[in-house]
Amino acid sequence: MSRLLDSPIEFLKGVGPQRGVLLRKELNVNTFGDLLQYYPFRYVDRSVIQRIRDINPPTQFIQLKGKVSGMRVIGEKQAKRLVATFRDDSGEIELVWFKSIDWAMKMLNTQAVYLLFGKPVAFNGTYNIVHPEMELFGEQVDAQTAKGLQPVYSTTEKAKKRNIDSRAIARLTQTLFESLKEYELPDFLPQALKQQYKLCSRYEALMNIHYPKNEKQLHEATRRLKFEELFLIQLQMLKLKANRGQSSKGYLFEKIDRQFDTFYKERMPFELTGAQKRVLREIRKDTLTGRQMNRLLQGDVGSGKTMVALLTMLMAKDNGFQACLMAPTEILAQQHYESIIQLLKGLKVEVAFLTGSVKGKARKYILHQLAEGNIDFVVGTHALIEDTVVFKNLGQVVIDEQHRFGVAQRAKLWTKNELPPHILVMTATPIPRTLAMTVYGDLDVSVIDELPPGRKPIKTVHRTDADRMRVFGFMRDEIAKGRQVYVVFPLIEESEVLDLKDLMDGYEALSRAFPKPQFQISIVHGRSRAADKDFEMQRFVKGETQIMIATTVIEVGVNVPNASVMVIENAERFGLAQLHQLRGRVGRGAEQSFCILMTGNKLSNDSKQRIGVMCNTNDGFVIAEEDLKLRGPGDLEGTQQSGTVNLRLADLVQDVAVLEAARQSAAVLVEQDPYLEKSEHRSLLQFMQASAKEKIWSRIS
Ligand code: ADP
Ligand code: MG
Repeated sequence: MSRLLDSPIEFLKGVGPQRGVLLRKELNVNTFGDLLQYYPFRYVDRSVIQRIRDINPPTQFIQLKGKVSGMRVIGEKQAKRLVATFRDDSGEIELVWFKSIDWAMKMLNTQAVYLLFGKPVAFNGTYNIVHPEMELFGEQVDAQTAKGLQPVYSTTEKAKKRNIDSRAIARLTQTLFESLKEYELPDFLPQALKQQYKLCSRYEALMNIHYPKNEKQLHEATRRLKFEELFLIQLQMLKLKANRGQSSKGYLFEKIDRQFDTFYKERMPFELTGAQKRVLREIRKDTLTGRQMNRLLQGDVGSGKTMVALLTMLMAKDNGFQACLMAPTEILAQQHYESIIQLLKGLKVEVAFLTGSVKGKARKYILHQLAEGNIDFVVGTHALIEDTVVFKNLGQVVIDEQHRFGVAQRAKLWTKNELPPHILVMTATPIPRTLAMTVYGDLDVSVIDELPPGRKPIKTVHRTDADRMRVFGFMRDEIAKGRQVYVVFPLIEESEVLDLKDLMDGYEALSRAFPKPQFQISIVHGRSRAADKDFEMQRFVKGETQIMIATTVIEVGVNVPNASVMVIENAERFGLAQLHQLRGRVGRGAEQSFCILMTGNKLSNDSKQRIGVMCNTNDGFVIAEEDLKLRGPGDLEGTQQSGTVNLRLADLVQDVAVLEAARQSAAVLVEQDPYLEKSEHRSLLQFMQASAKEKIWSRIS
């Protein structure tokens, strides 16, 4: 691989130590190679300058030429802003800055002529442009960029203040290209693939994504780079999967007897659904191959994944192995632990609980017993993957997650043994197929597509503050029937204090509307002490309180079948996946359940759509697809935390076709040349070896 691309960014002409620090810290550009892949986020056709009079909705980014006058700072605190007038010979438009006001005032010169880029938005019957990009007219003519579309790079306020604006970055990429020879950007995509999909070369693509001469070039460059990006991910995933299939030996769970049988025949409180049975058969088959199972279990909220997990763990126990169940939160782990103990009462299975909150002697004891093999099942959180947790013979791992574990974290569990344990990952929220292919591309997939019998679909409605009295009345009616009610408030970390206030105000209002002793209310939030949380939860679970006021701590897992109403306050502040999860807390019993989404009167289009989706469907898979469409994958819960999909260019909504093609091609390649030994795959092999963290491409493992 090219050494040049690995060079620290400071060494690029025009950077130096100080700007180097900024590039690293602000833009995460550490090497020449990073800069090369710091793609523009849009382009401006510099040959077109619009006139203010001709601005017409719906208007995209435009370029204007003119002078600034009448700068004034108005408003206070959050509403404080700098407003200026921008004028050309056809008319004028307002410019607005909310941030970096001092800096903007200093920079703007009323004598100068500016070229301005920005997106006009309608406001009070006219237009204004918020945070325009401005530069002195005449300065913008860079030799290379002036010819075609000009790249616009994203940058931060801090970087901008130190003169690393979009144009500065453009100059740096130019400098880089001047010193790059074509051979330093070898094309590792196999020729055959390039021909099949008519892809341009890597050098061409990288050059043209920064400096396209026209739309067509840009399109071709983007197409090639998206394909490459998705192809490399798929190749890696499928290779991992293939390797495991071949060489990764796993434990054999030959027996199904004692504990499993006793439990299945005598203890199980219900008959399994057809889907649960099918999934169990799939798992059973995996654990009989002598290879490691790596399976993703998808199932909507309330579809009964926990029972499948428990039965799987019992299979391990019957074959002399330990099993662990890992949950994303302390509360959920606690619930799993309690329900498992309850279910297994009287059976000879030792179950332990281990999270960060288990400390001191108790912790030491559990660690010891785990290592000795005296504990069969351990239920816990992330704490289970810490190095201090050693098993005697871990045979089965169940991860009940909300996309919070990445490939790397899962891998960490495999090293806890001589042979890797079987892995079952359960997702609480269904994920769209494209995302599953990318995040979980190395796993086999099982789906529970059936809810336990007798469930009535939850009725979901949208209400605003004006309806509050009616909502309270409805709650009273349900409580009179003996049901319980959740009232959930959002909690967003940045404004935790404000949120807490919302919650406490809500609590007061509810306390007045639902007075003691007739009504009892539980309250749980992020600031509650663990013991209090527990106490309040238990009161609600036991039916001692009728209303549970909570922040999203109850989001995952809590199981109170008698609760039939879920009221979500400020519903517009929740994402779709989260709303669906919350709604899944009700509708667990035989009663008709309700979800009431409370919002203010004014809603953005986006929020309106989300609320609409929730009112129209209960199907988690439909909701997941809508979520992906509305938010875009970059924002999808968990994808960023998990660090497994870090796509620079490709978009899992728009580029489904490219993804399919990339996956298909990668599958063929792994099948036909699993070690990339053919000469036409040599540079691909080199590239994969250089970028892979594990040695997945060598024959000797
Ligand atoms: P999730 O898939 O969301 O984790 P759970 O495992 O918590 O769902 O199950 C939801 C509820 O459905 C629990 O109360 C559980 O006991 C119950 N349940 C699970 N499977 C069945 C079944 N086959 N028949 C009846 N109830 C079931
Ligand atoms: Mg669950």
